[in-house]
Amino acid sequence: MSGSRVLVLNSGSSSVKYQLLDMRDGGRLAVGLVERIGESGSRLKHSPADGESREWNGSVPDHDAALKAMAAELDRDGLGLGSPELAAIGHRVVHGGLRFTEPTVVDDAVLAEIERLIPVAPLHNPANLTGIRTAQALRPDLPQVAVFDTAFHTTMPESAARYAIDVETADAHRVRRYGFHGTSHAYVSRETARLLGRAPEDVNVIVLHLGNGASASAVRGGRCVDTSMGLTPLEGLVMGTRSGDTDPAVIFHLMRVGGMSADEIDTLLNKRSGLIGLCGDNDMREIRRRVDAGDERAGLAFDIYIHRLKKYIGAYYAVLGRVDAVAFTAGVGENSAPVREAAVAGLEGLGLAVDGGLNAVRGDGARLISPADARVAVAVVPTDEEMEIAAQTYALVNDSGNQNLT
Ligand code: ADP
Repeated sequence: MSGSRVLVLNSGSSSVKYQLLDMRDGGRLAVGLVERIGESGSRLKHSPADGESREWNGSVPDHDAALKAMAAELDRDGLGLGSPELAAIGHRVVHGGLRFTEPTVVDDAVLAEIERLIPVAPLHNPANLTGIRTAQALRPDLPQVAVFDTAFHTTMPESAARYAIDVETADAHRVRRYGFHGTSHAYVSRETARLLGRAPEDVNVIVLHLGNGASASAVRGGRCVDTSMGLTPLEGLVMGTRSGDTDPAVIFHLMRVGGMSADEIDTLLNKRSGLIGLCGDNDMREIRRRVDAGDERAGLAFDIYIHRLKKYIGAYYAVLGRVDAVAFTAGVGENSAPVREAAVAGLEGLGLAVDGGLNAVRGDGARLISPADARVAVAVVPTDEEMEIAAQTYALVNDSGNQNLT
């Protein structure tokens, strides 16, 4: 009988976020973050459930050192990686291409495939791989499970997943729409069904994941049928620093007329666009403060953000045909009442409305914010990607454990 704990690792290029969860009761035993790996002034923050948070500044030259620092902190709390209670390590992997439609126990072939996908996810997959390899070295005997951001979207029909470009060229370079934030869209669409007291198979949901990165998805009966991010997380909604949808010809124009290089435009569209490019701020709290103070640039940025969001709600309404709920999630979606109100304003004809009083109430759990008699439920549903990764990891290792017994 293996243990009931799962360690979830989210390895970025210069940071590692981790959570240790107990899957018997879903309790969070420890949460932490190592930042500025390989840079000056590395920092670790560790918060055990039973005790004070601890912070530590020092040198963390690479991911190996980061995971060892994490392991030392877990050890201090009696939650060390050597514990037989640890059943598996679940890794967030951003790009799983078309092959990985499910969480997958990592072996050499899986590592090779994640590596093969680096050209379509150059910022994320290398760091995810490093995280897996480092964790393997620390606990070679333990199952390592890869949970892919793209997996939930592999159910999209070809009509939604293909760009209308020459098929041979697209296929030769694996150019298609993959979608991201999949663990969040999966979790939130299921939790929305639960909030409505219905089975996920019976419910059509538009999920609006509005964080610093932002994406929308259309989920029919628990399966994703469209999502706003594409080949990369740049497509779709206006985000904190990313442009979302633009005419692709903007790029040629900036190259030919603006004299910019491909890399410069990549940086422009990913890091200097979206809300920060429009008004100099990417935090919705600050933008709303400026809007309320009459700042015109912040007002325009907010309006552009809302206009795009509203277009996607309308588009996914049409894709689904029947919508039971619209769910807001992530930093902005869970916390910004003005964004939620503005996004559905004027959509009464589609059966969408928010109740001002319910929308203004702050709360931790999933909740309805639409009027009692609304045709379509509007909900705030906090996302929990770590819990989803842990749950999928735990289910997979328990399943394979059971299969081994038979
Ligand atoms: P990510 O995981 O993409 O980094 P999050 O889902 O944590 O992002 O969302 C971060 C964003 O949420 C912030 O940039 C900020 O715009 C927004 N946010 C957080 N708290 C609030 C709040 N109380 N009101 C409005 N926006 C908020």
